[in-house]
Amino acid sequence: MQQVEVYDTTLRDGTQGEGISLSVEDKLRITRILDDMGVAYIEGGWPGSNPKDAAYFQAVQDLDLQHAKIAAFGMTCRVGSQPDNDDNIKALLDARTPVVTVVGKTSILHVEEVIRTTPQENLRLIGDSVAYLKSQGKEVIYDAEHFFDGYKLDDEYAITTVKVALERGADMVVLCDTNGGAMYWEVESFFRRVKEQLLDVRLGIHAHNDGELGVANSIAAVRAGAIHIQGTFNGYGERCGNANLVSIIPDLELKLGVQCLPDGQLRKLTHASRTIAEIANQTPLNSQPFVGKSAFAHKGGIHVAAMRRCEESYQHMDPTLVGNETRYLVSDLSGRGNILSLAEAFNLDTGDEVARQVLDQIKAMEHEGYAFEGAEASVAMMLRRCQPDYVAPFNLIDYMVLVERRQGRGMVTEATVKLDVNGQEFYTVADGNGPVHALDNALRKALIPVYPDLADFHLADYKVRIIDEARATAATTRVLIDTRNGHRRWSTVGASTNIIEASWRALQDSIEYGLLN
Ligand SMILES: [Zn+2]
Repeated sequence: MQQVEVYDTTLRDGTQGEGISLSVEDKLRITRILDDMGVAYIEGGWPGSNPKDAAYFQAVQDLDLQHAKIAAFGMTCRVGSQPDNDDNIKALLDARTPVVTVVGKTSILHVEEVIRTTPQENLRLIGDSVAYLKSQGKEVIYDAEHFFDGYKLDDEYAITTVKVALERGADMVVLCDTNGGAMYWEVESFFRRVKEQLLDVRLGIHAHNDGELGVANSIAAVRAGAIHIQGTFNGYGERCGNANLVSIIPDLELKLGVQCLPDGQLRKLTHASRTIAEIANQTPLNSQPFVGKSAFAHKGGIHVAAMRRCEESYQHMDPTLVGNETRYLVSDLSGRGNILSLAEAFNLDTGDEVARQVLDQIKAMEHEGYAFEGAEASVAMMLRRCQPDYVAPFNLIDYMVLVERRQGRGMVTEATVKLDVNGQEFYTVADGNGPVHALDNALRKALIPVYPDLADFHLADYKVRIIDEARATAATTRVLIDTRNGHRRWSTVGASTNIIEASWRALQDSIEYGLLN
């Protein structure tokens, strides 16, 4: 089986993405996740650029890594300087990593206009820096910056820079599409040409996503002989991001038969992607290929009906291979199959007739402003309530919510709830910091003596959405509630022109569902 090395730069290039900031502890946690998956190289940062990266390289020495080699990143020595007295190179050595990655100029434009030196001096910077780092016992990866643009401008000079790095001892040469604008056929053909001109060269790719081809360009490079891919988890990175390893890895393993991770590790991909998103304080993208919540979610009735007959009919692969799962969504586009699949997922024994009944109800309710996608527990409750022997754990008789603002008293919110619980009447009053909070408190006060488990339910998320905005304050409001009990989490929905009533409906479903499960 063909193999490639995965080189992750989430901790360095990834943190250059807007809104992404990682503490030293965050970086160590991500390092453990990547190492556990079997990533070959982890680029920890740029030790010369900031004290946080230097602290990471100190702390990472204490981790007992099983698979990954840690790399420090930096530039070749500066114009006019020698590597043995250059601050950048010194910082690279001080990081005490087995691997160093140095980036150098390939494009004649950057040599003349950006670092403003001669083509010969640039070749000296590359050669001397690589040779010096090799003499210090390092594995040296040479990143050829702006390779594709440089090659178009002056192919002979671009090739010469790479040749110098190789001759002076670089273990790997990485062709970089630094501004992310290359097309995948250019990448493939340039890789082939470099391999023809420099026999035995070990080549890697570092792509960015500015033309939304970061993944495609990385795969094109592998097809043309690259054996090392640099990228970030979830595609984090400057501007439009780096090539996304979370897509490249399964594409290569499952579509091209190229091994990237040790056997059995691909199944950790979804969990790793979501955990890293969590650590980076980014909302995971539902539509993210392979690992997103919606990546294998089916909504169209015809699709779901086909999926029930044949799992391969509307999925390009088995989601469990990457640790993800098939989901069936319920909406007014659904057919009976969606409801039946959902009933199975909730272990409910539902006949065709009930499924049809619930489907009609859903279609009518979606017309009123409900949306049941992402509120599977509300659909499960509709199914339960259709069962002939169903007894609700509680029934609402009345509620009243009072919101007051009086001189000198500030805001006061109070809710009163009257419930029927197994034939007994409960009447409770509670306050809260808002009407929904007060209602929730009053409901709990009535129910906890009968159902003590309720004390462990926590409101994890509360979302409000205005549906028909044009109707302004008379518009329908949709409320989505996420409830958590230990590791379990479920979502319910309510809709009404009155936000309190919409919240009550979502709250009632949430508590009723929790108590029954
Ligand atoms: Zn980059």
